[in-house]
Amino acid sequence: MIYWCKSEKKQSYLTNKTFEDWNIKIFEDKPGDHKCYACSFRYEEDKSCNLVNTQISFPKGTCAFFAFGKASEIKSQGDKIASDTAGYAVSDSEVNCGTCIHFKSKSCLVWEEIVGSKQCCMAWEK
Ligand code: SF4
Ligand code: SF4
Repeated sequence: MIYWCKSEKKQSYLTNKTFEDWNIKIFEDKPGDHKCYACSFRYEEDKSCNLVNTQISFPKGTCAFFAFGKASEIKSQGDKIASDTAGYAVSDSEVNCGTCIHFKSKSCLVWEEIVGSKQCCMAWEK
């Protein structure tokens, strides 16, 4: 797990308990393509997201709150996060460190660790 940001030597506020309870992770160790079709917040029946308030694309969408997992079995009736806040984006390429603008020479420019090209984190940007 990566905890420290190079620019600010402090633990990220994103590790707080609320996010842990929601199964939201800063860093996704499991390699793969980190898109909506593989995210635990997806709701298969109408191809929607239980967390982000926008029409998502299962094959191309992603956001900062991606978490690998089985699809949600129940459609959320609660308030959702705005797509801008969630950093929702679409990509024709895989979403992982290998396609992130912060990935240089097998290392991440944001976090103080070497990361694998197939891993990912909340700070992914294309
Ligand atoms: S928009 Fe974000 S939280 Fe929702 S399914 Fe896609 S990656 Fe998961
Ligand atoms: S390269 Fe991008 S996606 Fe990978 S850990 Fe760094 S910021 Fe996150």
